[in-house]
Amino acid sequence: MSIDFYDQIQKFVGLEAGTQDGHDEVNQAMIRHWVEAMGDENPVYVDAQLAAESIHGERIAPPVMLQAWVMRGLKHRPESGGSPQDDLMNVLDGAGFTSVVATNCEQEYDRMLHLGDHLRTRTIIDSISDEKQTALGTGHFLTTRVEYETLEGEPVGRMLFRILKFKPGTGRSVSTEEESPPRPLRPRPALNRDNQFWFEAAKEHRLVIQKCSDCGVLRHPPRPRCDKCGSYEHGAVEASGKGTIYSFVVIHYPQVPSFDYPLPVGLIALEEGTRLVADLTGAEASEFKIDMPVILEWQDLDPDLTLPAFRPVKL
Ligand SMILES: [Zn+2]
Repeated sequence: MSIDFYDQIQKFVGLEAGTQDGHDEVNQAMIRHWVEAMGDENPVYVDAQLAAESIHGERIAPPVMLQAWVMRGLKHRPESGGSPQDDLMNVLDGAGFTSVVATNCEQEYDRMLHLGDHLRTRTIIDSISDEKQTALGTGHFLTTRVEYETLEGEPVGRMLFRILKFKPGTGRSVSTEEESPPRPLRPRPALNRDNQFWFEAAKEHRLVIQKCSDCGVLRHPPRPRCDKCGSYEHGAVEASGKGTIYSFVVIHYPQVPSFDYPLPVGLIALEEGTRLVADLTGAEASEFKIDMPVILEWQDLDPDLTLPAFRPVKL
């Protein structure tokens, strides 16, 4: 990287990249949609009477909804170009850093938001890193700081949002057509004293389920303590390998080199009652369905890693 280019992009640090007024005040309808989508059942967000008796004194918005109150929406896209952030993106694009991925987000809250609060943001270019080599490619980390305040000017929170602008094709996982490197191994599981027995059993083609030695409840994934009775004593039982698809996704991106895509991954409800995440196999990605009966099939992926997969039961 030339010193000139580094100096050129550092000139953007500290510049204000724009302001945004929220379209709507903090309101119960958007909060209800949010908590239902998130599965958050805390009544302080939706129950006026319970909220009145809580330490908040009235209903509050989930703190992590902060950015939702100023989202521009699909039909309110302003003309792009002209802000220092747009100019910075153009400079980086021009130097070949045309790809982008979000990497970090940190939020800080000054107070809870209540129905009727109306927010505005100010975005500042906080920092730009020197050139870094990452697994995705060479690039610059760009951090923006978003300050949230009410329309009356009271600060309510802030967010640091970091992206990586990188050159496509410069990452460590890129292969060329002439020489195709050996296929990388699957990511290793994070083994610890609680889950090691499960992976050891898998190597022997035994699908096991942890069982509380005191109350007999089955649990997965493995963990040290029984959720039901609190006991730390546990053993395991062997599963039949029969189950149904409780839910599933088909992953297209991001693509990790050791997997084939599209990659169907299921949340399998075993007939013993526990669920586990596993690859789906034996059918096209489009053929898997919720509640489909499936049966265990072992995948010996490499000498150190065997994992269960599930295929549709042939009727
Ligand atoms: Zn127990």
